[in-house]
Amino acid sequence: MTTPKVEDICTEVFKQSEKPYIPMSPEIVQTSSFYFETYEEFMAFSEDEKNHYVYTRGSNPTTKKLEEMLAKLESGEKCKVFGSGMGAISAAILTLARKGDHILMLNTVYGEALSFANYLTKFGIDVTNANISHTGDIQDYLQDNTKIIYFESPSTQKFELLDLEEVAKMAKSIGAYTVMDATWASPIFQHPLKHGIDVVIHSLSKYIGGHSDITGGAVIGKEAIVDEIFECGHQYLGSVSSPFNSWLSIRGLRTLPVRMHHLNQVVRQVLDALKQDPRVDRIYHPYVANEDQQALAEKYLSGYGSLFSMELADEDFERVKQFVNELQHFSIGVSWGGFESLVLPSFKGNNIAKLNYRGLKKSHVRMYVGLENPETLIEDLSQSLDKAYGKR
Ligand SMILES: *Cc1c(COP(=O)(O)O)cnc(C)c1O
Repeated sequence: MTTPKVEDICTEVFKQSEKPYIPMSPEIVQTSSFYFETYEEFMAFSEDEKNHYVYTRGSNPTTKKLEEMLAKLESGEKCKVFGSGMGAISAAILTLARKGDHILMLNTVYGEALSFANYLTKFGIDVTNANISHTGDIQDYLQDNTKIIYFESPSTQKFELLDLEEVAKMAKSIGAYTVMDATWASPIFQHPLKHGIDVVIHSLSKYIGGHSDITGGAVIGKEAIVDEIFECGHQYLGSVSSPFNSWLSIRGLRTLPVRMHHLNQVVRQVLDALKQDPRVDRIYHPYVANEDQQALAEKYLSGYGSLFSMELADEDFERVKQFVNELQHFSIGVSWGGFESLVLPSFKGNNIAKLNYRGLKKSHVRMYVGLENPETLIEDLSQSLDKAYGKR
């Protein structure tokens, strides 16, 4: 028997795929490329890469498991996962819109999503950002060439809900797509596809990942639309989820329902405490919104997300800063949806024009309630308000 050469030992391709075990947790298929028995098999797979494993920039078995789980959770035909929420958003918009089309961006959508849409004007795409309080007002902003109505419900900074069925109806009447970012409620509390929305987007970086350790995104909808987004937006932009990050999202999904039901209770407790507090002027969250908004919440949400915002009564930014700095259990940081409670002032020193445009005061702060003890969080808010604004 000839001794194999060291280079050949080091470069062995393991062609045997039968395994003598079935792991309880899915495998992380950490490979960039896949092996084929024959040229014919390679050609057949390459022709339909969205349904076969050729290269991980296209499809990967660990990511595929996550996609199947997300499609089921949203009652959608198909899902494609991306390297971030913005990867999913940009791929969807870029795929569905073309030169000469109009995109309607509604209310306070995620800042980068709006920036991306505005960026497309350089390619001859027309974009409007409309701030509306009643779904019917959308009618005023529709154009003959409107191709996408893009929105969140509730929206990112003011947490306003829209009537999904009404939006879907208006879009259908002019042949436009509805694209809805549903990250806030997660697939546990809201199912936009069931109400006629065409494309649902999630940032997996938030509740689904759930542990502040990954970025990821997903697009879910009818197979034909998701396949188109795969062929164009996913393949060209290359915002690919690594197998390990897809695996971490699957791990996050294991506890998503429990976390969401818990947070749905805790956010009510926190809001009940804050809404009594005279030092808090206004809270933006469907739980404490007006009747119209509550009716929409009743119709579309089966629970609440724990991200909200509020305006402090005193607009003096030194005091707002002090409030933020004195908090011990709410950390200052971006993103949300993880285990840790967060606080983030919307005023960043140089964005007053943007705040005014969005109808927000300087004292607007975004709060995320995490998995700490609820009493600890409520006491923390109270002591910090005491320090910044004096005892009530
Ligand atoms: C975070 C977020 C996004 C963007 O997701 P990334 O994974 O950070 O790219 C989009 N929409 C909403 C509502 C978000 O909160």
